[in-house]
Amino acid sequence: MKRQFIAGATCPECGQQDKIQRVIDGDRQWMECVSCGAKKDLDDKPAEAVDALAQPVTLKMPGDK
Ligand SMILES: [Zn+2]
Repeated sequence: MKRQFIAGATCPECGQQDKIQRVIDGDRQWMECVSCGAKKDLDDKPAEAVDALAQPVTLKMPGDK
């Protein structure tokens, strides 16, 4: 099992920053908050789910439709 902190990620449950770990166990992976213990499965769209948490603000480029 491998754990890595996701820099800048904010927990959707308790709102704490830098408490989210990405846990990889074989071919399964999930995010886990070390503060409140909230877990979020990452099986479906791993990269996008992590990106969404790590980048809470999405900027739209001008002219992007
Ligand atoms: Zn939390």
